[in-house]
Amino acid sequence: MQPYDVAIVGAGNAALCAALAARETGARVVVLESAPEELSGGNTRFTAGAMRVVYDGVGDLARLMPDLTEEEKQRTDFGSYPADAFFEDMGRVTQYRTDPELAETLVGRSLDTLLWMRSKGVRFAPIYGRQAFKVDGRFKFWGGLTVEAWGGGPGLVEALTRACRDSGIDILYDCRAEKLVREQQAITAVIARHRGRMLRIEAGAVVLAAGGFQANPEWRTRYLGPGWDLAKVRGTRFNQGDGLRMALQIGAASRGNWSGCHAVGWERNAPEFGDLDVGDGFQKHSYPFGIMLNARGRRFVDEGADFRNFTYAKYGRVILEQPGQFAWQIFDRKVAHLLRDEYRIRQVTRVTADTLEALVAKLDDVDAQAALDEIRSYNAAVDVSKPFDPNVKDGRGTPGLAVPKSNWANRIDEPPFEAYAVTCGITFTFGGLSIDREARVLDASGKPIPGLFAAGEMVGGLFYFNYPGGTGLTAGAVFGRIAGTSAATVAAAA
Ligand SMILES: Cc1cc2nc3c(=O)[nH]c(=O)nc-3n(C[C@H](O)[C@H](O)[C@H](O)COP(=O)(O)OP(=O)(O)OC[C@H]3O[C@@H](n4cnc5c(N)ncnc54)[C@H](O)[C@@H]3O)c2cc1C
Repeated sequence: MQPYDVAIVGAGNAALCAALAARETGARVVVLESAPEELSGGNTRFTAGAMRVVYDGVGDLARLMPDLTEEEKQRTDFGSYPADAFFEDMGRVTQYRTDPELAETLVGRSLDTLLWMRSKGVRFAPIYGRQAFKVDGRFKFWGGLTVEAWGGGPGLVEALTRACRDSGIDILYDCRAEKLVREQQAITAVIARHRGRMLRIEAGAVVLAAGGFQANPEWRTRYLGPGWDLAKVRGTRFNQGDGLRMALQIGAASRGNWSGCHAVGWERNAPEFGDLDVGDGFQKHSYPFGIMLNARGRRFVDEGADFRNFTYAKYGRVILEQPGQFAWQIFDRKVAHLLRDEYRIRQVTRVTADTLEALVAKLDDVDAQAALDEIRSYNAAVDVSKPFDPNVKDGRGTPGLAVPKSNWANRIDEPPFEAYAVTCGITFTFGGLSIDREARVLDASGKPIPGLFAAGEMVGGLFYFNYPGGTGLTAGAVFGRIAGTSAATVAAAA
């Protein structure tokens, strides 16, 4: 096999951005991907393509989305998302543990990186369906998440893959990297199994972008703790922790929240791994407008603690901790129009009834009487003196309840009533490798391992406990691009 300047492990968003950035410098680039082509694209392909990005009003958005029409601009309040707000969101949701240097790089390079992706053929659109509600005839965006890749995750993977092919990057599918070769100090090759045959791929530098370990139940139990073997995997089955293992084996330092992960409320009867035909449709993210009950018929979390973007990634864990690892989300007619489109898919565990008594009787595996009592006490506590407004944290709460609901509390009293069964779906793991601003992988003494770079889910130190929605793809793109450029520079100098 011919020698390459840069070998990239993985073919998700981070890897493909790394490949394109390396290729821009003239480097010869190869991408190694475990999955066969029809299942490739990693977790990236399962996403809706939502990307958190700094923007200063509609002017910046128009640079990203030149297709925005005057009519759209008129009927939409896009607001702005300043760097300070993104940085503060990263700090707040991670309990101020996020590495400030990495977070600053992510935030500071977000817009520039999305514009660069656009120059490579990725198109963007406003996320009207999920991140904006119509008030007084105008859409208003909330929570800092405004942009999605055209065609969602599949569209993003397709656009990046096409750009790679057009620029002469080789992509080997069904090619699982197994080992890094470190000679003297530097990384010089990757050993991989390509369609059953062992390959040694010589390269001046290697970028690891092979995702986390969420699809590996043994590692989940080992690092996240007991019970995590029982979670469903929302995305690809191929993110088994290979990249992390290979790097740790040659002396890379681990970093970040190895006992933490992104996990959400997910259809209780979903398959063990993600289903590309359903994508992210198994998620059930409208809980801020209803309540959640466990097997004992009890509420167990503040469903309205914050905007959905800032709670959904940690509530999967809370559901996993409930008896039987499930919960029911309950809504009434008043809020049914606010439910996201994922509530209307065919593969959903849903019950409806015209009375609360009939509804609780239909909730599988739940103490019906306790559930009825709980809904009644909740209803009695709702502070109806404050107006309900889904676009702002409206402070409409439930004073006096042991488990409060801090915003968007509505009585559940208008039939028909609807309930949806959810369990925990794990998205990706937070623990990763220690990298610096140039995406160089560091060893335990804090020194870069020559020729080794990492990006995407494999980066440790960015996310702890929680995560602001839409940051994974942006982080993958920002650090992938940096890793690709750094790797090509090192390879050229070697
Ligand atoms: C259902 C769902 C919805 C999501 N929605 C969003 C969203 O809207 N916005 C957002 O920002 N984030 C979202 N995320 C998170 C997002 O998917 C990830 O943060 C991001 O895609 C990670 O990109 P990545 O390139 O690091 O990993 P991936 O895209 O997972 O790519 C890793 C690749 O490495 C390959 N690989 C693994 N091991 C090897 C090996 N040994 N050799 C070769 N290749 C290997 C895998 O097959 C995979 O293709 C969502 C995730 C899921 C599952």
